[in-house]
Amino acid sequence: MSADGKYLLAIDQGTSSSRAVLYDHETRVVASAQQEFPQHYPQPGWVEHDPEDIWRSVEAVVRETIAEVDAAEITGIGITNQRETTVIWERGSGRPIHNAIVWQDRRTADRCEELRGRGAESDVTSKTGLKLDPYFSATKIAWLLDNVDGARQRAENGELAFGTIDTFLLWRLTDGVVHATDATNASRTLLFDIHDQRWDADLCELFRVPEAVLPEVFDCAADFGTTSRELFGAELPVCGVAGDQQAALIGQSGFANGTTKSTYGTGCFVIANTGNQALTSHNQLLTTVANRLDGQVTYGLEGSVFVAGSAVQWLRDELGLIASASETEAIARETGVVEDVVVVPAFAGLGAPYWDPHARGAVLGLTRGSGRNEVVTATLQAIALQTFDLVDAMADDGIRPSVIRVDGGMVGNDWFLQFLADILDIAVERPENVESTVLGAAYLAALARGVIASIEATAGLWQCERRFEPQMQAGLRDRLLAGWAAAINRARSRA
Ligand code: ADP
Repeated sequence: MSADGKYLLAIDQGTSSSRAVLYDHETRVVASAQQEFPQHYPQPGWVEHDPEDIWRSVEAVVRETIAEVDAAEITGIGITNQRETTVIWERGSGRPIHNAIVWQDRRTADRCEELRGRGAESDVTSKTGLKLDPYFSATKIAWLLDNVDGARQRAENGELAFGTIDTFLLWRLTDGVVHATDATNASRTLLFDIHDQRWDADLCELFRVPEAVLPEVFDCAADFGTTSRELFGAELPVCGVAGDQQAALIGQSGFANGTTKSTYGTGCFVIANTGNQALTSHNQLLTTVANRLDGQVTYGLEGSVFVAGSAVQWLRDELGLIASASETEAIARETGVVEDVVVVPAFAGLGAPYWDPHARGAVLGLTRGSGRNEVVTATLQAIALQTFDLVDAMADDGIRPSVIRVDGGMVGNDWFLQFLADILDIAVERPENVESTVLGAAYLAALARGVIASIEATAGLWQCERRFEPQMQAGLRDRLLAGWAAAINRARSRA
């Protein structure tokens, strides 16, 4: 393959919006577009997307992004996507048989509980690196096959295709020619053996997923087919795919063993690169495929917190304490570190390292003098304290980063990043380009098309915009950590 062309196109299909960014070969942004799409909550705990909305939004943002350039000059397309979200469609018509079941959806919690009760979890975890949790795709696939009329039979007959969002987009982009995914997305389904790098027949049987529905699994930089000419005016190679958090690690040039990134959007996701070792966590963290390039697998240790930036939205939308997210910075600066009030934003239960779906949020330590400023500041602190729990769990598993690279919408908040460095007692680095996820997808496309010689070459492109050094007095830090641990115990359902 050669680097004929001028541009790289990256598609970031996220949970609440779809984005496209056009870069030149030096990964400078040429154009971008973003579009939100509707969320569906048919029952409490259920979250769905209409795959046609997703497709329309992707088509629209790509068209808008490339409107000013000659499409034939696009060297390649990289895709990154919300992970685990499950779509099943008809191979014949390309029509989805049902809405997509989104990663946040809890409808299969009982099924997971039942399988855990039968002692299935240890085998599942040793093969997949994941937990037996509704978060991942397998039980969502079975739910669709069991709840859409005739679907199971049609799946057995080979009439239906399953895909995470990357796979669905590839199918649509290539006009039904390619049914494929990459190893990072496959590693989030509960059906993929991350050590052998293949779908596992026993897991398919356990979760009642016919192998006939599964896509082929490729490296992250590979030939994923070409877009049909009618779509964007030229046949464009799709040549990079990675799940959003893995793409963010790539966008942060996290190729060295031990490199750790933390993304602060709606939720918070920490991934540490563990090289060619699939580390088993003793602290309920996940083992996942960080990337697979030239058949070489790099593993990651991952911890996620469901509520991060969404706690700031809660301050704004539910409590009405702030008018905009960015106001939190001035409030926290004026208030200073809050010791008495502790906010535990466990609105959707607690993720790693607790995995307590029944925990709920709490505000503790209120006194007559506590007001808006304390609650706002304590909420920012809570997001950092949740990160501490993840990083502490990683340290206990043997991963102790000396610096953490951050990205996502919240990292514009300098006060938050200073507090984060203080509470972690680790330096925090904010890159020039905080759009790591979409950049990671562009890097993969660049690699596949020979625009860059190796993925490591992107390390030279990574630039630190600001480094936050820990500077908190140890006594204060200890008190905050003790107060946090006590508050978490109060919020847990089985403390
Ligand atoms: P996502 O990709 O998950 O939609 P983003 O990476 O765009 O999220 O980040 C948006 C989140 O960051 C929102 O939840 C918002 O409340 C929060 N946020 C944005 N700016 C700030 C800020 N200056 N301080 C605190 N939180 C912020």
